Amino acid sequence: MSESNFQNPASIRGLDGKSLVLQAVDIVQLIGQTVSLKKRGRSYTGLCPFHNEKTPSFHVHPDRGFFKCFGCNAAGNAIDFVMKRDRVEFGEALRTLAGQFNVELPKLGSGQKSDTGLRQALLDACSAAAGVFHNNLFGPAGAAAREYLEKRGFTDHTLKKFKIGLAAQGWDGLMRHPAMSKFRPELLLQAGLLKAKDGDESRRYDTFRDRIMFPISDEQGRVIAFGGRVTATNDSPAKYLNSPETPLFLKSKVAYGLDQGRQRIVETKTVAIVEGYTDVVMAHQFGASNVVATLGTAMTEQHISLLRRFADRVVLLFDGDEAGENAVDRALSIFLSQPIEIAIATLPDGQDPDEYLLEHGLEAFDKLLANAEDALTFQWRQLFRQLGASENDLTARTKAIEGFLQRLAVARQGNVDAIRWGALLARVSKFTEIPVEQLNQRLKPKPVSRFVAATPASPDRRPTLQGDAGVAATGNAAPPRLSARYQAERWLLGALLHLPAEWQKVQQLIDCSEFTDKRLCELAAFYWDHQRHEGEPVVEELIAIAPDDRLKSLIIELADEVEMMNNPAATLADAVAYLRQEKVRQEHSKLVTELKSARARNNSTVNTDGRNDDFDVDVLRKLTVAGLNRSKT
Ligand SMILES: [Zn+2]
Repeated sequence: MSESNFQNPASIRGLDGKSLVLQAVDIVQLIGQTVSLKKRGRSYTGLCPFHNEKTPSFHVHPDRGFFKCFGCNAAGNAIDFVMKRDRVEFGEALRTLAGQFNVELPKLGSGQKSDTGLRQALLDACSAAAGVFHNNLFGPAGAAAREYLEKRGFTDHTLKKFKIGLAAQGWDGLMRHPAMSKFRPELLLQAGLLKAKDGDESRRYDTFRDRIMFPISDEQGRVIAFGGRVTATNDSPAKYLNSPETPLFLKSKVAYGLDQGRQRIVETKTVAIVEGYTDVVMAHQFGASNVVATLGTAMTEQHISLLRRFADRVVLLFDGDEAGENAVDRALSIFLSQPIEIAIATLPDGQDPDEYLLEHGLEAFDKLLANAEDALTFQWRQLFRQLGASENDLTARTKAIEGFLQRLAVARQGNVDAIRWGALLARVSKFTEIPVEQLNQRLKPKPVSRFVAATPASPDRRPTLQGDAGVAATGNAAPPRLSARYQAERWLLGALLHLPAEWQKVQQLIDCSEFTDKRLCELAAFYWDHQRHEGEPVVEELIAIAPDDRLKSLIIELADEVEMMNNPAATLADAVAYLRQEKVRQEHSKLVTELKSARARNNSTVNTDGRNDDFDVDVLRKLTVAGLNRSKT
């Protein structure tokens, strides 16, 4: 007899990696790294990281180990979350979680490698290279670079914290380094650490030579790329050089310093974006760790999507010179499309952030961010100033308004959130003294837009359990279904999720095909199937194996709904009673219809005689029986 005969099925299942990981993960801690969560009763809420929203509809349930968004219906357990967050396959999500929560995964078969293997190998190579560079800086060859960094004010502690390093002079310092010998040259090429001359892979050389190296990490602190700044002896015209894009490194999706700054960003709800990595490092050294930089690209919507998981407010921090028009335009269009506040601040007198911090301190820096003007106001004032416009100079003022509206119209072309647009118009109207109606008319895009479809006056998309389900069930057009029958079906399923043992009785009353709502019917089929073939399901497990997000989401929704009513057994009894009554009612009305049509038939084919009465008596008897049954339930 094998050992497993002594174990119940649950503990056998418990041996696989997925279960091990799910048991070990603290889902609030996990999701809290990405979303600022507030406790609300037994669950936590925050802004959904998977769709744009202003009011939190994202819920995390620690006791049951899953999350759900009522806005976009994203739902699932910790593994689902990581798969969505990092856009990775199941296996990699599992490994990420196992690493983070110290779970030793059972050995996988050899078939499960591929993509995951490559990513890990690239990460390993980047990490090894960061080690080599860092050691160079602290070795004899690094004396000059260290002196330079020291002069610029970097402390040893900072150099170590940011793993700052030095790429050796010459063409193959990294390539020939013993620490890199375990990596195939092709892999190092793919990681962007080597280049091949004229595409000839046999003529490879180091990408970074004689440069001070700033490892670029993902939000979890894993090195994925590098930025290199020339040293005093390097006369390359490119003062800064970043790794090329690799499978690990997509410039538009990485914010330098985010891994180190996460905590303060979440605490202050504010993130400042500066121009370069040295600014970031110095700001962090002064305690302003809510500062990040974009890398060799202007701010993109993806950057904002990344940052708004941590912050409510993004402040673009420019040196004392006037903020570039492009940057301001971009800020404005992103402001329109993303539910986040975007503000612009300029440092006085051409100061760098570290100069400012040194002179004024952290508190003043925070105040500077807090007082930063929103992108819209900033742009309006900038235009006004540039044109030398004043309240009295009507011509210049008109020009400023024209220019402003033009730029708004351009910003408006992008993906615009209707509610934000409405709020913005109100403010523009205040600046320009043009009535909102008129502005709306002037700035209306040519074709019929999403804006018309989703005008701010349209119903709030915030969750009402029933309304949301109805919308999701039938697409956008149909109104939510709120019939008693629909509610009873929901309660029945929701209660069964809590009381799987009751299913045996319930399935005698109703078959899964009899659910009238399509989505509930799907869930019922899934649930019935599990009961028949796998036995009584556990909610968490059902969520894990549900074939799609909508179903996962529905399970959580229904389980929640019933749980909120505090007495699943009573809810189930109510639902069962209703459905039973309905059955009787249906029989009743079927009989009445029969009676009517029989009468009609008789009237048209037979003259009134005794036979007709006999028929009536028979039907009426049946109806009475049905009525009695009905009053019994
Ligand atoms: Zn969502």
